[in-house]
Amino acid sequence: MSASSAVPPAAAPAARPAAPSDDFRTAAHATAALVSDYLDGVADGPVWQPMDPARRQALLDAPLPAGGTPLAGLLDVIAAEVMTAPMGNGHPRFFGWVNSAPAPAGVLATLAAAAMNPSSAGGDHADVHLERAVVRWIAELVGFPHPPGGGILTSGTSMATILCLAAARNRAARLAGVDLRADGLAALPPLTAYATEETHSCVRKAVELLGLGSRHLRTVASDADGRLDVTALAAAVAEDRAAGLLPFLVVASAGTVGTGAVDAFDPIADLCAAERLWLHVDGAYGAFGVLDPAIAHRYAGMDRADSLALDPHKWLGVPVDCGCALVRDTDELRGTFSLVPSYLRDEAAGALGWFSEYGMEQTRPFRSLKVWATIAHRGRDGLAADVARCTALARRLGELIDAAPDLELLAPVQTSIVAFRHRPAGADEDTVNALNRQLPVRVQLQGKVFVTGAVHEGREMLRACLLNSATTEADLHLLLSEVRTAAVGLMECRPGY
Ligand SMILES: *Cc1c(COP(=O)(O)O)cnc(C)c1O
Repeated sequence: MSASSAVPPAAAPAARPAAPSDDFRTAAHATAALVSDYLDGVADGPVWQPMDPARRQALLDAPLPAGGTPLAGLLDVIAAEVMTAPMGNGHPRFFGWVNSAPAPAGVLATLAAAAMNPSSAGGDHADVHLERAVVRWIAELVGFPHPPGGGILTSGTSMATILCLAAARNRAARLAGVDLRADGLAALPPLTAYATEETHSCVRKAVELLGLGSRHLRTVASDADGRLDVTALAAAVAEDRAAGLLPFLVVASAGTVGTGAVDAFDPIADLCAAERLWLHVDGAYGAFGVLDPAIAHRYAGMDRADSLALDPHKWLGVPVDCGCALVRDTDELRGTFSLVPSYLRDEAAGALGWFSEYGMEQTRPFRSLKVWATIAHRGRDGLAADVARCTALARRLGELIDAAPDLELLAPVQTSIVAFRHRPAGADEDTVNALNRQLPVRVQLQGKVFVTGAVHEGREMLRACLLNSATTEADLHLLLSEVRTAAVGLMECRPGY
């Protein structure tokens, strides 16, 4: 192009608004101090308290800032407006849902991982190889077989379940001579899956999302201890086959979310082998319970599953988010998600290929560093001791409840969840239900302990989940006295309870 071209010169780029004058190192040190102070002080304050309405509204209405704020100013806001209103799960007297305190090593690793900020989709960088290693560690911790590549970190068990059930669906189609990826479900009779009432809702979500229809997720009876009834399962499978349906999947639980029940895996695995059904185990909350020698026997046969979903972000305390899908047959998972032609796989990225061939995520966070740090900091033995402490505390809580005439244990304590209710002398069933429905929130508002509720076999209950090895026996006594205090308060304001 000649110098006399009529094309006007491009406008000079507008000057970038001045960046706030930042000293990253100073701010990083301040962050470390803030985080350390926060963790040191968690146990001293209330477990949880409702947010001040004005401050809640201020967060909701926060205007989009046109100009920037120096790092130090951001830290001030984080310290004053965010870290003052926690969920409560870092506290040793938090017994709600299945939310753990963060492992300190995991907290530190999170910052380092963010500083590197890779996409752990694949390639030759440390994060990718570390993920292979920690997935193997997780498999070794719970005693699950680990073929190379036989697992992947996910956002949680909800996502891990989608991956595992998708692989199960693909295998079922392949066995029926259908290429599901190309032809979809229309070419198949209805695929049916089996689970109990106790099974976590993420299984139904996955079944619905995968187009199987929740109608084809059959509810199988469970026994008095909340375990899947294998005789009922066998009968349901036979009935469905006779009706022209295609049974393909059984979901068992290694620790149900309601009562911590662990299914009897061996007889279920026998049936699945005989019927050629994929056995998926939901171990989100409870799979790591196998580390405690006192309850390890309950997990016999878990290693026979085709897939196991579990959550390092629960009992291990890896900072959220971190779930994991483990599969017995690596090809089945890769064959479900990979879009890399098989002739390219080896050359492109090594025999195992990219993580993005094994799941839904393409750009993937560096989850493995916080898993590595959490496990390496405590070691297998330290983790096992932490888990064993939680199960021992849970059994102790069960004993205290059993010994109290005004409290009732609603399920045997199998892992570290204690399901119970308050039953004041002379109260009828309706009153007890109404009372226990309101107890959790009342207890939470008192601020000293945090417990949540659930409905189990039609009964309103309290549900204490012990995941924090810093919890003491005194905390258990406080939990029960707080429940009684809350009950007295409720009965005073609503006579008739
Ligand atoms: C928490 C939980 C899930 C869901 O896992 P997310 O990590 O929350 O997605 C599934 N099953 C059980 C038993 C759980 O405790």
